[in-house]
Amino acid sequence: MPTKRAPIKNRLLAALSSEDRLRLLGDTAALDLNLSETLSESGAHIHHVYFPVDSVISLITPGISREQLEVGLVGNEGMFGLPLLLGIRVSPLRAVVQGAGRAWRIDAGHFLRVIESHASIRQALNRYLYVFLAQLMQTATCTRFHLVEARLARWLLMSRDRAHSSHFHITHEFLARLLGVRRVGVTSAASALQRRDLIRYKRGDVAVLDARGLERAACPCYAIDKRIYRRVLGKGLVYRQPAERDPEAIRLATRVEGSISC
Ligand SMILES: [Zn+2]
Repeated sequence: MPTKRAPIKNRLLAALSSEDRLRLLGDTAALDLNLSETLSESGAHIHHVYFPVDSVISLITPGISREQLEVGLVGNEGMFGLPLLLGIRVSPLRAVVQGAGRAWRIDAGHFLRVIESHASIRQALNRYLYVFLAQLMQTATCTRFHLVEARLARWLLMSRDRAHSSHFHITHEFLARLLGVRRVGVTSAASALQRRDLIRYKRGDVAVLDARGLERAACPCYAIDKRIYRRVLGKGLVYRQPAERDPEAIRLATRVEGSISC
C-alpha cells in the first residue's frame, strides 16, 4: 500500500531544485517494494520509473537460467527507468527487488512529459545515465578480468552501500548470478573472505566486519565506480561510508557463528 509523506532520501531527487522535484513527483507516494518482486521484465514496456529510498533493485540480463547475469544495482543513488531518458519505453533488463524498502514510483507517461518540458530535470538525470553506463562498462571489464573473490568483495561493498547497513541479506542464487559462477564458486569465495575476518555469511545473512579490509580485497572496480559517481554527480552524492568496524555487524556476526551455508 502507498505510504504517504515518506521523506525524500533518494539522492537524485534530493539534488533537484524543490520546484523540479515537485514537478516530477506531483502527488505521487512512496511505495513499499517487497523482496524478490519483479518490477519489469526484459523486453517489456516500462510502466513506472522507480527512485529507491531504502530499497535496492537489481538489474539482470535476459538469458536462460545460469546465463542470466546481474549487471547493475540501484539504490538511493539512482533510479530505474533510464531508457525513457532516451525516448525508449522498453527495458532491456529485468528489474527485481533485491532489498525490500521504499521507493518513489512515477508513472512513465508523466515522467516523459516532465522531462520533455523541463530540460533541467532531464539534464540532471542524464548525468546519472552517464554514470550508470560507465559502471556497466566497468562491470564488463570486471567480469572478464578479475578474480571471483575480488569481484565478490566489490559487490558486497556495493550492496552494503545501497542497503545503508553493514548487515544485509543476499542469497546464494543472487551472488551466483552477480558473479556468473556456480553456487560452489560463491561458497569458495565467501569462505576465503570469511577466513580473513572480513565478513560473516550464513544463510544469506551478510555482516561486513572490516570494511577497509574488504575494500582492499575488492578489485579496483569498486573505487573506480565511486570515483565516476563523485566526479559526475558531485561531492554531495558520494556513497555513505560506514564505520570500519560496525558494532552491530560484529554482534550479528557473532550470533550466526560464522559458518558458510546456503
Ligand atoms: Zn572488477
